[in-house]
Amino acid sequence: MEYEAVIGLEVHAQLLTGSKIFCNCSAAFGAEPNTHTCPVCTGMPGSLPVLNRKAVEFAIKLALATDSHVAPLSLFARKNYFYPDLPKGYQISQYELPLAVQGSVEIPSADGGKKRIGITRIHMEEDAGKLFHDEAKPFSYVDFNRTGVPLLEIVSEPDLRTPQEAADYLRVLRAILQYLEICDGNMEEGSFRCDANVSLRPVGSKTLGTRTEVKNMNSFRHVERALAYEIERQNEVLESGGAVVQETRLWDPQKGITEAMRGKEEAHDYRYFPDPDLVPLAIDAQWIEEIRKGLPELPLQRKERFIQAYQIPEYDAGVITASKALADYYEECVRLFPEPKQVANWIMGDLLRLLKEDEKEVEESPLSPQHLAGMLGLMKDGTISGKIAKTVFEEMYKTGKGAQEIVKEQGLVQITDEEALTKPIDEVLQNNPNEVAAYKGGKDKLFGFFVGQVMKATQGKANPQLVNQILKKKLS
Ligand code: ADP
Ligand code: MG
Ligand code: ZN
Repeated sequence: MEYEAVIGLEVHAQLLTGSKIFCNCSAAFGAEPNTHTCPVCTGMPGSLPVLNRKAVEFAIKLALATDSHVAPLSLFARKNYFYPDLPKGYQISQYELPLAVQGSVEIPSADGGKKRIGITRIHMEEDAGKLFHDEAKPFSYVDFNRTGVPLLEIVSEPDLRTPQEAADYLRVLRAILQYLEICDGNMEEGSFRCDANVSLRPVGSKTLGTRTEVKNMNSFRHVERALAYEIERQNEVLESGGAVVQETRLWDPQKGITEAMRGKEEAHDYRYFPDPDLVPLAIDAQWIEEIRKGLPELPLQRKERFIQAYQIPEYDAGVITASKALADYYEECVRLFPEPKQVANWIMGDLLRLLKEDEKEVEESPLSPQHLAGMLGLMKDGTISGKIAKTVFEEMYKTGKGAQEIVKEQGLVQITDEEALTKPIDEVLQNNPNEVAAYKGGKDKLFGFFVGQVMKATQGKANPQLVNQILKKKLS
C-alpha cells in the first residue's frame, strides 16, 4: 500500500524579554548558574507570580503576525509533574483557554506555489531549569536561571506532509519571530525548539493514523533527517503488517535513528487546573489594535517590497528575506553598490555557499557588506576580472580583509594592456601547433581552449574581452 506522511509540530520559542514571565529576575542566557533566581522562580512557598506585561505583548505580536485570533480571555493553568529541574512541582502554562487560536502561515509548496499551514494554538508558559549530568563529577547539577523564562508554544495543525515542508514551516515561523524581534531563534542554544508528531495513512484516506512524537532535534537538518527516518520506520512497520505504537521517541543524531523513550501507558497525567495565584488574562481590543499598528515589516511584506523596489526575481527575494539578518545584509550591500541583481547573485551563490560550508549564520559572516560592495566596485571599474573576483571573494571571506587590500597584496590587478598580453598569447599559440592547425581547419570550438590557456598563463588576470580580440586577430 502507498502511504502518505502527516506531520504536526509543537514549537517552543523563548521570548526576548528582559525579565522572566512571573518575576523580576533577568531572563538573559549565559550567566553564572543560579544567579538569576528568586523565591518566585525557585518555587518557595508563599511567593506569588506576577505576569510580565511585555511577555503578553510579544505573544500578541506573534498571534497577529500569524493571523491568529487573540482570545479576549485566557487562563493560566498548572501542569503538574515532578522533575528536578522544576522546583515548584508544576509548570505554569495555558491549557483550556490559550492566548490565541486558529492562525496560519504560508510556506513554499513543492510545485513552486504556496501552501497554508494552520496554527491550532499559541499559548504562553514558563521554561524549566537545566540539569547537568557530568560523568566525571560525583553529582548532577541544576541551574535555575532558565526557570520562569517566558516561552511561547506554537502548535501546528497536522497540515505538513514531508520533512521538507516541516523544515520550511520552521524556517518561516522562525523568520517571523526574528522579524518581530521577540525571539532570537537560536536552535543550538535551544531558544527555538520543536517536537515533531508524525503518522502515516493510506494515500487518499482522511482519517489520521497513529502518531509518534519525536524530540531532541536542534537544527533544521536534524528535524528533516529525524522525520525522514521516522517515516521510513513507520512505513516498514505497516508494510510488515504491524501497527505503529503511540509513543515519544528521541532522535539520536550520532546514530541517525529515533529510539523509543516512553509509551502512552507511561504518559503523564498532568492534572491540569487553573492556577489560583493568577487571575484570568483579559486582553482589551484597544491594546491589540495598538500592537497591530506597531508591527514591523514581516517577511512576506519585505519580500514583496524587494521584488518591487529592487526588481529582483521572486525566487531571489524569497531566499534573501527568509532571514532578517540576510535581508539586512542585502539591503546594506545594495545601498553601497546599487546593482540589486548582481548583489543578489553574489549573496545567494558564493556567500551562502561559504557560510553553509562553515555552518555559520550570516550574522557571523567574516565578510561584511562593505567588503562585498568594495569588491563589486573593483569589478565594475575593471580593476579585477569576474574570475579574479571569485578568488578575491574567497580571500575576503577567509581573511576578513577588504578587496582593495587583497588585490594589492596578491597583485591581482587585471591585465588590460594589449602589449602585456601579446607575449603570453604568442606563447600559447606556439606551444599548441596542433590545435592552431585544427582551429584553422575549421574546429571553431577550439577558440575557448585558447582563451582558457591564456587565462591560465596569466593566473586569470587577463581581461577576457581583450584576450578574445587579440586571439581573433592572430588566428584569422
Ligand atoms: P499533545 O498535546 O498530546 O502533544 P495535541 O493534540 O496537542 O497532542 O497535538 C500535538 C501535535 O500533534 C499537533 O501539532 C498536531 O497537529 C499533531 N498531531 C496530532 N495528531 C496527529 C497525527 N495523528 N499525526 C500527525 N500529527 C498529529
Ligand atoms: Mg505533544
Ligand atoms: Zn525569579
